[in-house]
Amino acid sequence: MTATLIDGNALSTSVRAHLAEKVVALKATRGVTPCLAVILVGEDPASAVYVRNKVAACEKAGFRSIRESYAPDVDPLVVLGKIAELNADPDVHGILVQLPLPKHFDAEAVLEAIVPEKDVDGFHAENVGALMQGTPRFVPCTPAGVMEMLKAHKVPLKGAEAVIVGRSNIVGKPMAMLLLAESCTVTVCHSQTKDLAAHTRRADILVAAVGRAKMITGGMIKPGATVIDVGINRLPDGKLCGDVDFASAKEVAGLITPVPGGVGPMTITMLLANTLVSAERAAGVAV
Ligand code: NDP
Repeated sequence: MTATLIDGNALSTSVRAHLAEKVVALKATRGVTPCLAVILVGEDPASAVYVRNKVAACEKAGFRSIRESYAPDVDPLVVLGKIAELNADPDVHGILVQLPLPKHFDAEAVLEAIVPEKDVDGFHAENVGALMQGTPRFVPCTPAGVMEMLKAHKVPLKGAEAVIVGRSNIVGKPMAMLLLAESCTVTVCHSQTKDLAAHTRRADILVAAVGRAKMITGGMIKPGATVIDVGINRLPDGKLCGDVDFASAKEVAGLITPVPGGVGPMTITMLLANTLVSAERAAGVAV
């Protein structure tokens, strides 16, 4: 059996085209251009690439973007001051601080400094709480992108066994909330889980968000399952790979995302979607 590919690039292209049309309409009807501000602290090469990709995606879809870069040893008060300025700027609709921050930062305090109405990553405690209550303001971009992929491929959700490997605030936990909201039966695994394979083999939907190259092998997957690989790992030869061993997994799964070209592009697409929604709300458009 060879799984059908869930093509994140293709889905992103179609969703972004739709977003670009809405941007044009918002400009025409309200004179508002959605604007995302991205803050980068330090010189982590992966973070720099993510920021570059986010800014490029904004520009391509007709959004305005602001990029603020700081040296790794910047005083956190300088960054907090910039966030306060962006919070107060009515022309800025989304503010994102690229993680991870250097060790001398209190990352939680920085995320909490962004007003919830512009927290397009959905990491502010108020937005986390709203998601938990089932009334999300902004859904974190990676799990939101995964849900779009599942829906685009009409993956049955109600009553499905969903197993998530990884319990981070950014991916695993919000992913669990979203699948639960769709009436999946959700299991969340982590580094202390005993017999991981016993859990993953039950999954109709398996989401891997760990950060360990190829740790989920074909033998850990239920035949016909939908396998979503969130992981991004760099191999010694410089190539990227996911947390799923694609070669063995595709022989067992029914649907599978590749890395690269799977969840990654959808994450950026959902960031644009959240920024557009924020701009529409600010302009008084019913969304
Ligand atoms: P974190 O490091 O924050 O979380 C990793 C999780 O994996 C933890 O909950 C940890 O458990 C769990 N874990 C570690 N080892 C094992 C193991 N042996 N068995 C089971 N669980 C284990 O990572 P993130 O959630 O931020 O990211 C996960 C991956 O997804 C990374 O590769 C990251 O680069 C990628 N990513 C990709 C995105 C995209 O757009 N495609 C966006 C965001 C992340 P414990 O809690 O017990 O420590």
